Amino acid sequence: MSLNLLGLNRSQFEALCADMGEKPFRARQMMRWMHQSGVSDFNAMTDVSRGFRERMGASAVVSAPQVLRDTTAPDGTRKWLFDVGTGNAIESVYIPEGDLEDDSAADESTGRRYRGTLCVSSQAGCALECSFCSTGRQGFNRNLTVAEIVGQLWHASRSLSTGLGIERPVTNVVMMGMGEPLANFDNVVTAMQLMLDDHAYGISRRRLTLSTSGLVPAIDRLREACPVALAVSLHAPNDELRNQLVPINRKYPIRELLAACVRYIEKAPRDFVTFEYVMLEGVNDSVEQARELVRTVKPVPCKINLIPFNPFPDSGYGRSAGPAVSAFRDVLLQAGLTATVRRTRGDSIAAACGQLAGRVQDKTRRVMRRMEEKRA
Ligand code: SAH
Ligand code: SF4
Repeated sequence: MSLNLLGLNRSQFEALCADMGEKPFRARQMMRWMHQSGVSDFNAMTDVSRGFRERMGASAVVSAPQVLRDTTAPDGTRKWLFDVGTGNAIESVYIPEGDLEDDSAADESTGRRYRGTLCVSSQAGCALECSFCSTGRQGFNRNLTVAEIVGQLWHASRSLSTGLGIERPVTNVVMMGMGEPLANFDNVVTAMQLMLDDHAYGISRRRLTLSTSGLVPAIDRLREACPVALAVSLHAPNDELRNQLVPINRKYPIRELLAACVRYIEKAPRDFVTFEYVMLEGVNDSVEQARELVRTVKPVPCKINLIPFNPFPDSGYGRSAGPAVSAFRDVLLQAGLTATVRRTRGDSIAAACGQLAGRVQDKTRRVMRRMEEKRA
């Protein structure tokens, strides 16, 4: 099988060039062709010597996963379904914000008018079985390769820049698609290094966010290996409820998770952690639970992002009503916390948080187990 150059970070690419008797700058040159110009054909890399192009072409390819479906919602949200082989498919979602022509939508920190966020998947399925998550229900097949993770950004950048006619359509990346990114640690870190690299996508650390359900040792490793903005899926104010919603909590309870968040902030590009909290009607959305949440998160400088639950077939949960969400948020605000309610985007094409299901050939026999549980 040919080497896929989409999966190499800069140092790996430079080492490859050295092995082929070429200077390191050749790697940077080719990376810019691939990642910034979206070129996959070596012949189009016109400032690279023909001899080197031919040698590269004989042993390597630039290959992103094939697109199976490409859907755009009326609100501009766009979703791609990618084939990752052996019957598995993963999804990525692009969320544009602000008008291309509208000054009022300017981003304060950059002066940019337009923000385009790509939500990227890290695994085919997920092994962690959070009860309210469609990906979690599907079971787990495998970790995505670096090329499959970066390939989502490669493809999105390439097709969006043609479609929208702007040079950098993706300004922000969130590792919040299918899968638990910290359970695919090495590949996700290498992929994020490419996202950050000025010779590839040049996304700043503050604009690259990784969301985790709370794998404590991996949060510590991430702090050393690649500190990007961190979001943690909290979803409950106490261990008893979190054990039910996010089963990994039984292994890494809230107290340990929050301590890891505090350690993370020392190295993080932002001086807070974002806590995600999906609002499930009658489960975790009462005013008492909001007060308890205020006490729980006290040790951690944080922002809380309340996510309206996005339904999927047979989820067994309901979305909290608007007034309940507002009342919950107000308790947090009155306690001096920063809290926002995430606007639901792309739900008409099942592209909203937690709706990404792709297609997963479960290797964990989860579906069988569920059926047996139901019968018992
Ligand atoms: N595995 C990681 C990242 C992917 S999920 C994690 O769990 O953090 C991204 C976010 O969507 C998480 O906060 C997750 O809890 C949330 N989510 C999952 N299912 C959801 C649903 N049905 N509605 C709304 N948010 C959901
Ligand atoms: Fe996995 Fe995240 Fe879904 Fe939990 S919420 S099952 S960790 S993808």
